[in-house]
Amino acid sequence: KLQKVKLTSSVENERDCPSENGLPEIALIGRSNVGKSSLLNMLTGGTSNALVSANPGTTRSINHYLIDAKWYIVDLPGYGYAKATEEILSWDTFVKNYFKTRQTLCGVLLLIDASIETQDKDLDYANYLIGNDIPFTIVFTKCDRKKGPNTPTVEENIEALENRLEETWHRLPSVIKTSSVSKEGRGDILKFISSIILFRRRANAEKKENKRRLKARNLKEKKYKEKAAKTKMRQRPLRKT
Ligand code: GDP
Repeated sequence: KLQKVKLTSSVENERDCPSENGLPEIALIGRSNVGKSSLLNMLTGGTSNALVSANPGTTRSINHYLIDAKWYIVDLPGYGYAKATEEILSWDTFVKNYFKTRQTLCGVLLLIDASIETQDKDLDYANYLIGNDIPFTIVFTKCDRKKGPNTPTVEENIEALENRLEETWHRLPSVIKTSSVSKEGRGDILKFISSIILFRRRANAEKKENKRRLKARNLKEKKYKEKAAKTKMRQRPLRKT
């Protein structure tokens, strides 16, 4: 359960992102109008103040939500908000840099609208995340939506995306079906988040322990060498003066 949600930072430029403070971060990304704000509200029980907007693409800021003083949800602007090519490229570069360099980033929720056919940009992001070994899950949104009889169903859209990913990759990412209307998938998302945070914590603890062992071994080796050198000195016959 998420008890306390606090918006700690909201910036419009990647340069102003808060410096890393060691707490784990989970980023949310998806096309504008994918249902990100609604999902955020569903996850945080309406305490995130993320606005559900009728106008696609109004969420432009990078918002850090501190959850229970232990970890962050990082709400990234939906791709597609930018209209000019230059703006699109600069946004894309920032997100990819953020994904690759942010030490505290544990994983990403890639939001994809299941009520429409997969967009190339969604596939690009999925390919990017798989190709760069960034832990993520695909969160399909709007799974409650039923469109007309001549449009593909949610299941057909999900299968089509998986088929397209299968053309390139052996292992597919996990998927979570959600609806902010019925609250389907909330528990699965929270489980995914806690498992990747735990995974990261264990990996960090292991790294720290390995570093400690290496340091201890180096110190032991240094002492041994010093002792050996002293012994050698003592054994050396004294020269007559
Ligand atoms: P954002 O731009 O990604 O933050 O998207 P919003 O959360 O503002 O949602 C965009 C539109 O999709 C709004 O009209 C929402 O009411 C609608 N929407 C979002 N999630 C769902 C969902 O799970 N089911 C349905 N049926 N509509 C949704």
